Amino acid sequence: MTQIYNFSAGPAVLPKEVLQQAAADMLDWHGSGMSVMEMSHRGPEFISIYEAAVRDLRLLLNVPANYKILFLQGGGLGENAIVPMNLVGRVSASATTPAAIDFVHTGSWSGKSVKEAARYANVNVAASGEAGRFTSVPPQSEWKLTPGAAYLHLCTNETIDGVEYNFVPELGDDTPIVADMSSHILSRVIDVSKYGVIFGGAQKNIGPAGLTLVIVRDDLLGHALPICPSAFDWSIVAAHDSMYNTPPTYGIYIAGLVFAHVLRQGGVAAMEQRNIAKAELLYAALDADDFYQNRVEKDCRSRMNVPFYLRDETLNDKFLAGAKARGLLQLKGHKSVGGMRASIYNAMLIEGVQALVDYLNEFAGRK
Ligand SMILES: *Cc1c(COP(=O)(O)O)cnc(C)c1O
Repeated sequence: MTQIYNFSAGPAVLPKEVLQQAAADMLDWHGSGMSVMEMSHRGPEFISIYEAAVRDLRLLLNVPANYKILFLQGGGLGENAIVPMNLVGRVSASATTPAAIDFVHTGSWSGKSVKEAARYANVNVAASGEAGRFTSVPPQSEWKLTPGAAYLHLCTNETIDGVEYNFVPELGDDTPIVADMSSHILSRVIDVSKYGVIFGGAQKNIGPAGLTLVIVRDDLLGHALPICPSAFDWSIVAAHDSMYNTPPTYGIYIAGLVFAHVLRQGGVAAMEQRNIAKAELLYAALDADDFYQNRVEKDCRSRMNVPFYLRDETLNDKFLAGAKARGLLQLKGHKSVGGMRASIYNAMLIEGVQALVDYLNEFAGRK
């Protein structure tokens, strides 16, 4: 088989070593005689898999002791409802009625979060990048925040628009920051203590679709609205160590293999250095002349998701066919924005980015 490089935005490439390990374990995990998929989530085998995954993730992100790590179902979009159902109750009874949630609208995913939250609270778009067609993060000095808001929601990496935060806002009060990190968690060092909640679907940088990660500070638990399904009430899920209902066991197992793999690679700081090198290589090829175009302002270009356009869009199909013939897969841009997109998550090796850069140069007729 020719070497394949998969640039899908998600579900996305996983480390080869992880897939090989999963294949080796498929019929008989560690001599248990069972596949992980066949194990009770309450049995000692699976509990050991779960505990190792939580321990390794805590280590990787340096998660403080007063934060819970939860594994749920529902995906990133599910959290768009689950987050407000868990958090608006913090304030609605007192200060502002109905509760307000602040959002910074930086692209497609934060836009979806605004829409969904509006079913549960009074949403305030504190700043929007829409006028600039989502090519930057509006500077914090321009945000119009609501005093007493239940929380501030950010999407710290916009997977479709290719916009990534390069700062964590300092709010000057105790409003918790909720961050959708679906598409860049584990790609860069973060200070978890600056956030109230971090959430994400697993299928970009962590593992298979179907697993959703929530990291939540203890004092934010216990405020769920009465309409919140029990299986999505974080305090109930936390009290049962993510086993209130059956969690996505196989997804947790693969995520655990990915966490161990990242640890062996040197942890998140080492991944970040690799991701910087990969992103610099790719953006340099896109910027070399005007054959290709990435429209995002340089200081907030995503290291994970790189949308780009051909100057002559009539060449799009030819570009994609040539890429596929070279084993460079899933480069077509999201249907809402067109063009191309290369997602270069943790598991994308620099060799893959180099192969794409070689093709970009060849297709542009560069020497
Ligand atoms: C992929 C993605 C989601 C949606 O996740 P689902 O698991 O499909 O619900 C949400 N937010 C961001 C930033 C994403 O990249």
